[in-house]
Amino acid sequence: MSPRRKTRQISLGNDRTGVVRIGGDAPVSAQTMTAGYTHAIDTCVAEINRLAAAGADIVRVAVPERKDTEALPEILNQTQVPIVADVHFHYKRALEAIEAGVHKIRLNPGNISDREQVNAVIDACKERGLPIRIGVNEGSIIERKDKQKRAVELGKYFAEHKSGHLIALMIAKLEEYLDIFDAKDFHDVCISAKSMDPALTIDIYAEISKRFDYPLHLGVTHAGPKETGCIRSVVALGTLLANGIGDTVRISYASDPVYEVEDALEMLYCLQLRPRIGAELIACPTCGRIQVDLFTLVQEVRKKLAAEISLPIKVAVMGCVVNGPGEAEGADVAVFAGDRRGIIYVQGERVANVTEEEILERLLEECRKFQAMVQRGEAQLGQKKVEIVPPDPIGELGSGFDKIAHHQVEQVTVGRT
Ligand code: SF4
Repeated sequence: MSPRRKTRQISLGNDRTGVVRIGGDAPVSAQTMTAGYTHAIDTCVAEINRLAAAGADIVRVAVPERKDTEALPEILNQTQVPIVADVHFHYKRALEAIEAGVHKIRLNPGNISDREQVNAVIDACKERGLPIRIGVNEGSIIERKDKQKRAVELGKYFAEHKSGHLIALMIAKLEEYLDIFDAKDFHDVCISAKSMDPALTIDIYAEISKRFDYPLHLGVTHAGPKETGCIRSVVALGTLLANGIGDTVRISYASDPVYEVEDALEMLYCLQLRPRIGAELIACPTCGRIQVDLFTLVQEVRKKLAAEISLPIKVAVMGCVVNGPGEAEGADVAVFAGDRRGIIYVQGERVANVTEEEILERLLEECRKFQAMVQRGEAQLGQKKVEIVPPDPIGELGSGFDKIAHHQVEQVTVGRT
């Protein structure tokens, strides 16, 4: 992991929603966008609240029409997470959204480029202390109105320098747009430059991170459904974050946006960029030694843990006792299946041996009990590791732990600088 790149910092929200800071020394935030109509107030409020409950730090809403900005005051009244108005084509939607009380504006230089219009939005945001995201993306960066210019840009785009041309175009557009903001001495800005191509996304952000010190909003646009979009997004965003680039992330799926939030948070937890909230579930992939219906069990455990456990308890669900114990080392609560039964351990101590049907409820009961003990100060997370001797011998080579204990292997210390 590389150290985080130093950026300016912006903030959005208020006492009611909580203030979210982006950039500087703020933790990387996870944001998402509603999938329904903003003017359908009740469903929009329900969706925003569902996304906030899933852990979204910021929620963006589309405001394509006047009726959408008219719905904002009521939506803001009924929600408690900072709201961003996503504005395309009509700068007046931005002015209306600002007037309604949103906490941030997103402008797309690809479709709002009139200097006077941008100035009007900057002035309104300045007056209220609101930040603006300048978000260019691949789909709208190529000229659309001027046919001659479009033909030239498309020609270059599809010629041999496709990616280089696109990156140059995005940077040029960002520089041109930022000149307007500089002229107004407005620096409450966050920038994004999204592509549908994960490799291109990595290249674009690596380049803009060298050129601008504004916080970066990362995303792969139009990544597809969760099943494939997850890989496309995490490959690009995870690579950038591991290299210290990125201050807020939005994963975009053609699926329920709750998945966007869950996956963004899991990515940030895995990269140790955010302290984990809720249980961490590890599970074996299963193999020919499997002793129970593990796939069903794991899904049920996952849902129940998400609903009931708030501490970062490490829970392992393993399909057998042959390799399971080694793979579950470090878990606070673990179950190993064997002959249609489950043997449950809490921090290395065997606490139950139950039938397959009883595993789910008993495992959850042990998780709840363990959580309560941690909350009362009677136990600590990760204090004792699960150490169970598997039934078959490890062999004459012995385990890594033995070798470390006898100084036969040098310990490696890793740490993030
Ligand atoms: S824990 Fe057992 S069933 Fe699961 S993958 Fe490992 S060896 Fe196979």
